[in-house]
Amino acid sequence: MATLEEKEDSGITPGGDSGAFRDVLSTEHARRGKPPVHLADLDGEGRKEVCSRLGVPSFRAKQLANHYFAHLSTDPADFTDLPAGQRETLAQAFFPPLITEVTRQEADRGTTIKTLWELFDGSRIESVLMRYPNRATLCISSQVGCGMGCPFCATGHLGLTRNMSAGEILEQVRVAAAMMRDGQVAGGQGRLSNVVFMGMGEPMGNYRAVMSAVRQISALPPRGFGISARNITVSTVGVVPGIRKLAKEGIPVRLAVSLHAPTDGLRDELVPMNRRFNTTQVLDAAHDYYLASGRRVSIEYALMRGINDQAEHARTLARRLNHYGDDWVHVNPIPLNPIEGSRWTASKPEDEERFLQILHSNGIAATMRDTRGSDIDGACGQLAARVGNRSGSR
Ligand code: SF4
Repeated sequence: MATLEEKEDSGITPGGDSGAFRDVLSTEHARRGKPPVHLADLDGEGRKEVCSRLGVPSFRAKQLANHYFAHLSTDPADFTDLPAGQRETLAQAFFPPLITEVTRQEADRGTTIKTLWELFDGSRIESVLMRYPNRATLCISSQVGCGMGCPFCATGHLGLTRNMSAGEILEQVRVAAAMMRDGQVAGGQGRLSNVVFMGMGEPMGNYRAVMSAVRQISALPPRGFGISARNITVSTVGVVPGIRKLAKEGIPVRLAVSLHAPTDGLRDELVPMNRRFNTTQVLDAAHDYYLASGRRVSIEYALMRGINDQAEHARTLARRLNHYGDDWVHVNPIPLNPIEGSRWTASKPEDEERFLQILHSNGIAATMRDTRGSDIDGACGQLAARVGNRSGSR
């Protein structure tokens, strides 16, 4: 008989309005097993246990954490402060390879780099590094696929294969931070300054691992990478209990809500999760998050031709956001990244322009989202599935 915890981890939840929202997980999930345990998956006690199993003093784990978080290294050759005979064993125990590069694509003269990664079970995920004059942002994945089933979205069509571990999530960050530090991104040496959970997956569906990753991204070395929590964005399609839980964490990350429609009738069709948590519940929770964190909430809105991009939609959106007061929200409309042959396609430029103007004239801060790499930075996970993703194929 499975314990409650095992049930939660199996991803099979009974639905309703609480729980981990993994009830649409692929049936393949269980047989894939769990990724190898990594230093980032272990708390202090867990790290000590591994050290004692290997017969090494527990301070070795601290030295390894320093190599990982401060020096961004998992290479035993760098562990010169450790006894030579133990370096390999410790690296194998704490840093099993979790992500392997499959392909890398560059755009925007080398300032945008999309990497396709293979995980231990053959699943594939992506991350995208985008360098701007004053910052470098990494968009990362937190689940393999996405179970939210938005019909216009390529990742949604893949379904959800499994949750990623904190180690798998953090490895995307470590590699990108090292690329920036080592000058591998056009523009010379620099620093990874921002992380957004807008790659594959619904972060709230993998809450525990995502929060562990957020803590370790933001903590100072040797406990984390030292990227300010204020520069981390956690997105959600509107999983209200997740938003409320996040508000209680007291970590000032930015919240991004993928709204995509201003009314329940339309959003029920575009974002199936709306039937569980409707627009009023989602906006209430988003506004409460603003009150609790003092951080302006981002509203992501993929503009689809003739579906949600008309003047009436912009006016309704502005009215609904203004209902909560001024200056609490920033809207990012983004032209849809369409799936070939789908009836959902990108808006006409003049409709995008009008949408933005209506928001502005109603006092709503809004910026048309940069479509870096032309098609690789979609709203909430749309970025994936375009380069031969074969998650679910094993
Ligand atoms: S639009 Fe976002 S939430 Fe919806 S299926 Fe795609 S990745 Fe998931």
